[in-house]
Amino acid sequence: APDRLVSAEARDEDGEGSIRPLALEEFIGQAQARANLDVFIRAARARNDALDHVLFVGPPGLGKTTLAQIVARELGVNFRSTSGPVIARAGDLAAQLTNLEERDVLFIDEIHRLNPAVEEILYPAMEDYQLDLIIGEGPSARSVKIDLPKFTLVGATTRQGLLTTPLRDRFGIPIRLQFYTVAELELIVKRGARVIGVGMSDDGANEIARRARGTPRIAGRLLRRVRDFAVVGGADQVTREIADRALSLLDVDSIGLDLMDRKYLRMIALSFGGGPVGVETIAAALSEPRDAIEEIIEPYLIQQGFVQRTPRGRLLTPHAFRHLGLAEPAPGAA
Ligand code: ADP
Repeated sequence: APDRLVSAEARDEDGEGSIRPLALEEFIGQAQARANLDVFIRAARARNDALDHVLFVGPPGLGKTTLAQIVARELGVNFRSTSGPVIARAGDLAAQLTNLEERDVLFIDEIHRLNPAVEEILYPAMEDYQLDLIIGEGPSARSVKIDLPKFTLVGATTRQGLLTTPLRDRFGIPIRLQFYTVAELELIVKRGARVIGVGMSDDGANEIARRARGTPRIAGRLLRRVRDFAVVGGADQVTREIADRALSLLDVDSIGLDLMDRKYLRMIALSFGGGPVGVETIAAALSEPRDAIEEIIEPYLIQQGFVQRTPRGRLLTPHAFRHLGLAEPAPGAA
């Protein structure tokens, strides 16, 4: 369901460039990640050396790309960006790598989606700053080694488990991003409102933050939609009432669940007695790919304590039944 307002996947119309923080200092939340990065960046700068390779792990929209850009900026080097699915052949990656300058940052988004042949050439590049290429075919094939500048690879992935072990092991600085608290999202909403030039009351920011699923990208998107309602309604600032009315009309409920989330929860509640039910079964029943269920729908529902992953499948919690306004099944009824 790519048209979900609360999907954390990036979209063109998000216009994200504009509200993206540019420095570590402006970046809100992720205190531990920020503190670690700050130390490693200062140390690399002091040594006049490339920063060790960094892996950002976390659900979409939490700031992986933003942090990668900030890292390059704070290091004072170029930022080059690509993504796993875009690099089709080893030669494409070789071209990217040979274009780097000393200490540059190469960002590879969705790095778990690199094809294995491409991944092979990444290992020596990361470890020894060397390209091992096979030129030609058959008996005349020969291998050439090309020295690369010392660079920093910044990888981003939604799930660490999707990375091969040899690739994962080559990142000296693995960083896991967490969902944001409502207080942090309030600050992000207020900052975003200043940037896009819309008045924002404290409780308006709180209302948007509570419905943003712990995710800055969603906060930014909700902010833009609420702004539209405020502008059309002739209001000079977003109040809680305006935010609530706008988001309710857009089917984003009081804690940020949308129709898709509610469909997922209601299906487990009503068709499977609250579970446990296997993810394949859920995917089939919702006609959604299993990946989308696991990477997009479930992380926030699990984090909110609505669903548990058990060895026997997904299990709804009493909290979920309460939120849906449904009675819990009697023990053993399923
Ligand atoms: P990811 O790469 O993890 O999918 P992005 O870095 O593209 O996420 O961030 C998505 C959006 O959220 C961008 O518009 C970005 O500016 C905004 N954003 C992310 N993290 C923060 C933050 N900590 N403070 C303010 N805005 C943020």
